[in-house]
Amino acid sequence: MCVFCKIVNGEIPAYKVYEDEDFLAFLDIAQASVGHTLVVPKKHFSNFLEADEETISKLFVLAAKLAKQITQNLEVAGFNILNNNGTVAGQSVNHLHVHILPRYEHDSITIKFAQNHLSESEMQALIARISHK
Ligand code: 5GP
Ligand code: ZN
Repeated sequence: MCVFCKIVNGEIPAYKVYEDEDFLAFLDIAQASVGHTLVVPKKHFSNFLEADEETISKLFVLAAKLAKQITQNLEVAGFNILNNNGTVAGQSVNHLHVHILPRYEHDSITIKFAQNHLSESEMQALIARISHK
């Protein structure tokens, strides 16, 4: 059984932020920023690709609600919502989850995107590949 299923089942403890019949939110053990929270469906899905649409939509609606609550109660200026899928993307626990990362001036989180420029034809080819069904 995965570590988040164990938390859901109460086999290992967690600091719970929110709980209902289908979802649980708890503080990440490694507080990347103060208030770093994980939101998980109680049912085990490895990642985004495995989960059904209802779970995905409810998960994000709940993440948005909790982000608002955390923002107000911790008085933070902003936050990141993050979801890692696959080892290459940094997923270390294979139970679908969303990170809520409250952000503070001079915190130690670095999320930077490279600035890569493709040619017009490369962009067109990319669109064709992405749109292919
Ligand atoms: P991922 O890297 O898969 O997107 O995120 C997994 C997160 O789960 C990490 O930020 C890690 O700190 C957190 N985590 C791993 N094990 C536990 C645990 O036993 N309890 C809690 N609260 N968080 C955990
Ligand atoms: Zn699980």
